[in-house]
Amino acid sequence: MASDATKPGDVMVLPDRLHQVTAAIFEKDGCSAEEAKLIADHLVLANLTGHDSHGVGMLPRYIEDRLNGVCHRNLHAEIVLDHGAVVTIDGNLGYGQVIAKEAMEIGIERAKKFGVCVVALRNAHHIGRIGHWGEQCAAAGMVSTHYVNVHGHHALVAPFGGAEARFTTNPYCTAIPHKSGAPIVLDFATSQVAMGKVRVAFNKGEQMEPGLLIDAAGAATNDPGAMWGPLPHGSILTFGAHKGGGLAVICDLMAGALTGGLTHTPRTQVHAGDKTPPTIINNMLTVIINPKMLGGADLFEREVDEFIAWVKSSRPQPGVEEVLTPGEPERARKAKRTAEGVPIDATTWRQILDAARRVGLSDNAIAEMAGV
Ligand code: NAD
Repeated sequence: MASDATKPGDVMVLPDRLHQVTAAIFEKDGCSAEEAKLIADHLVLANLTGHDSHGVGMLPRYIEDRLNGVCHRNLHAEIVLDHGAVVTIDGNLGYGQVIAKEAMEIGIERAKKFGVCVVALRNAHHIGRIGHWGEQCAAAGMVSTHYVNVHGHHALVAPFGGAEARFTTNPYCTAIPHKSGAPIVLDFATSQVAMGKVRVAFNKGEQMEPGLLIDAAGAATNDPGAMWGPLPHGSILTFGAHKGGGLAVICDLMAGALTGGLTHTPRTQVHAGDKTPPTIINNMLTVIINPKMLGGADLFEREVDEFIAWVKSSRPQPGVEEVLTPGEPERARKAKRTAEGVPIDATTWRQILDAARRVGLSDNAIAEMAGV
């Protein structure tokens, strides 16, 4: 596992203190205590599981969007179309951490009743790490698949073979419950990397690995700076050549066209400098399946056990320690960071302090809460 060693200026914050800081900033900005807690739960868990791209580094962006009037406090999932096992929910640009949680709760209850529920969630502000929603379904014993698209800002990801970005990092997730409480969670951006990972590299002053980015002219680059500055920017490539490129297109259509939340086109992308400030709008089509209603619940559990054991019994390749299944790296990282703390690079920490000041919390108050 990669080391969490920090550079000068970076901070290491214990998870409960990081949670306290995060919740305090959102509460100070007018979120209810429950909303502030849910946002903090989500962001800190993203850091704990190793996805810093979707952790507390998103806090400054959320506060910016809220102050710009393109993310709203204290809203709840609104059911706008109800056909029982098929339900459409509008987030009205409320905090995604509340809206998506409530949308999954509605879907889980219905899947328990009908065996399946399709939840079409539209217009939520950023819903963060999609695995969080898969884990919520898995904890209730449900299998779930999530297709997500993103708009409200300019495109970031080039289609397969394209030199210009046409959509964003469109994540996909499938989660399979396991009686041990350790589900299989496949959760990734369909781009080579999540945009937040480019942000983290940019903030750390590091280069990206080859093969992830192209510049505005369409030429390969390792410089995360290609994604900043005046438009046109460079693009992130999709993963897995035409296969990942195809899945990215499917995610935009499933999440954007089917839910009514709209696909990523010039109609729905907003450029910095336009009259409407940019934001992060997520739409998500979720299919939740209750394995108990398919008549093979016992067999399903046995098959999951046997198959995963069989997969993991493969002799590791040279240089590979162990064959892992999706979800395992996140659990290992979580155990390590829960014990040792969450490393936050100096730029991200400064951005968090800036955001805290904007809502009226001093650097000293934050440092004291964080214990740094
Ligand atoms: P990633 O490339 O780190 O891939 C993560 C997935 O791969 C996980 O399921 C993990 O368990 C699995 N995995 C990793 N190493 C493995 C190994 N050695 N063996 C087996 N499985 C392994 O993820 P990413 O593409 O950088 O995405 C990061 C996060 O960003 C995700 O949580 C995603 O949902 C989120 N995201 C959200 C949005 C949004 O709009 N809300 C957009 C893009 C990405």
